[in-house]
Amino acid sequence: MISVDQWSSGSQIYFLTHLHADHTVGLSPRWNKGPVYCSRITARLFHPKFPGFDLSLLRVIEIGRWYSLSLVLPSTGMETKVQVMAIDANHCPGAFMYLFRGEFGIMLYTGDFRWEVTSEIAQMGKTMLLNALKNDKIDTLYIDNTYCNPSYSFPSREVAAQQVVNIINSYPEHDIIIGIDSLGKEDLLLYISKMLKIKIWVWPERLQIMHLLGLHANFTTKTTLTRVRAVPRYSFSVETLEGLNSMRPTIGILPSGLPWALKKAGCKDKSCDLSSMKTETNIDLHMNIRNRYTNNIEKHHQYIYTVPYSDHSCFPEILEFVKFLCPSNIKGIVSSSSSYVDPRYHLRNIIGASSLCQKSVTEEERERVEADTISANRSLAGDQTITSKHDNFVLGFFKAGNTSNYYVGIWYKKVASNPPSVVWVANREIPVSDRVNSELKIVDGNLVLLNKFKLQIWSTNVTTTNTNSVIAVIHDDGNLVLTDGSNSAEPVWQSFDHPVNTWLPGAKLAYDYRRKKKQLLTSWKSEENPDVLFSPLCGAFSTSRETQMLICDCLTGFKPRSESGWNQSDFSGGCVRKTELQCGRNEENSNFIMINVTYLPSNNFVAAESAGECHTTCMNNCSCNAYSFAYNECSLWDGELLDLSVDNDFNGKTVYVKVASKDLPTYRKKHGFPVGPVSGSFVEIC
Ligand SMILES: [Zn+2]
Repeated sequence: MISVDQWSSGSQIYFLTHLHADHTVGLSPRWNKGPVYCSRITARLFHPKFPGFDLSLLRVIEIGRWYSLSLVLPSTGMETKVQVMAIDANHCPGAFMYLFRGEFGIMLYTGDFRWEVTSEIAQMGKTMLLNALKNDKIDTLYIDNTYCNPSYSFPSREVAAQQVVNIINSYPEHDIIIGIDSLGKEDLLLYISKMLKIKIWVWPERLQIMHLLGLHANFTTKTTLTRVRAVPRYSFSVETLEGLNSMRPTIGILPSGLPWALKKAGCKDKSCDLSSMKTETNIDLHMNIRNRYTNNIEKHHQYIYTVPYSDHSCFPEILEFVKFLCPSNIKGIVSSSSSYVDPRYHLRNIIGASSLCQKSVTEEERERVEADTISANRSLAGDQTITSKHDNFVLGFFKAGNTSNYYVGIWYKKVASNPPSVVWVANREIPVSDRVNSELKIVDGNLVLLNKFKLQIWSTNVTTTNTNSVIAVIHDDGNLVLTDGSNSAEPVWQSFDHPVNTWLPGAKLAYDYRRKKKQLLTSWKSEENPDVLFSPLCGAFSTSRETQMLICDCLTGFKPRSESGWNQSDFSGGCVRKTELQCGRNEENSNFIMINVTYLPSNNFVAAESAGECHTTCMNNCSCNAYSFAYNECSLWDGELLDLSVDNDFNGKTVYVKVASKDLPTYRKKHGFPVGPVSGSFVEIC
């Protein structure tokens, strides 16, 4: 059903991790077996790599978002859903890992990746994986096993880049050539450029790639401008260096994990068969490999250095990654590497050894998941909760009955019931429609609830002095207590002072004792509705305005599917076209209306050079209902357009919705109503 970096027939959808040649074997300009999902950068690089490739096959996906894809089960012909999330692989520009969730379980395909644990990208990836997996485990981890052998251990790329600069600086009179691939190691070259304050020569095709990556300012194709040249790895050889040195003193630098590590490991057997190497280079073939033990730069030849600058994870990093995820099964994705052994061989101590794994989901993460405190560093969203110390009470988002309304509340943990037996509610007047994008957090010394539009819909609303140290703790008596850290014994706010419908024994005593005030109890209107407002999501082809309550409006050219439901504020049926579009005659019969929205609903990205091209693509596609061209990205929607929230500040994005011309106000003005024969376009949008 799904292929990753495999391009033979038989899959419904294809994923590309990155554009290195060993991941695109079988891809060609004429390849057209199905949609290809990849990063925005990878999509941008497709044309130079595969000129003539049908770019409409590309589907750009963004990092850290779940995408839901419909597939057909080959065995039964039934539809099945697969979810996918992309995570930065920290390899070459645009490289992604893919996390899949479907009937097959949970799979993570790393592609080539570097897990530099100290890097921001790896930290971000870690957070995304934790949030995406929650308490679930990965069933199968497909991992970059290029260096899955304990003998491979490299410094970070930052350190290695400095080593390269040091070498260059120690040869101030020499020309320098650096062997690189057609993609990757840009950060190294940029670092050299920055430190030496010079441009770096690259060959013309490589400059085109730099242009597409927006990095061209630091590069040139004029040899006279610089003494540092980045050359294709295939042209980097002892012969080349000797030839160059017969003309000018020249030093060659090869940034790679492999030759360096091989030497360190020693090499007596088949692993020395360099011709089988994934990262084969001519220099490798000429290297006199010796058994040395050093963590530093290596001089292989009078003119050649190798530096352990690697875009792949080394063994300690792979180990760290596997311990962090603790997958049930693990498979290597690189079978042609000289270092290839089944990764389970070296990782056998971890896989299946649950005690090791449990420790690897560090105590820190465990605390993060189970703590009883909301602080400046920790907020709640989605199904995250905090739990009182002895597991009596839980604070989090809960759903009221069968509605789509979510509330933040406290419930008994030990009384298992569905819905939970809620004892206190924060936002009982204004529910939120989307708990994943809503957030309960500390803002300026208060605990506040932000809805998906980041509007504050509830707050503890107190004045605190030490706003930075304010925390909210759920106690074992069910009391949510806000303290400001300076005097943690004295609450600045507590939920016992704001009871809702349930009598908590401790509440009244504590309350009366201190405040001598009568406690007011309010009860819920019904099991499903902690307050009088009933606000479901807006349905298809309508927009929402979330003010004090949710209001939905049909788009121009659309009418409620159910008038009666609509009149009773039940907007869930959404809206339908007043006039169906006539396929094949779109140009005369339809045009676009413009809507400014807070964010773009989930969509399909297609390649288009301009807003005009995006417009035309949608116009010419009968099933296209809307398009948007934002940040140079063309998105099309076929099927229903859901979850449109109007942005009154016009700061957001714009969606253009296809509407029958005769339903457009300008048409009516010109033609009166009812509508006569249709011709021409009347709304100039683009
Ligand atoms: Zn690669």
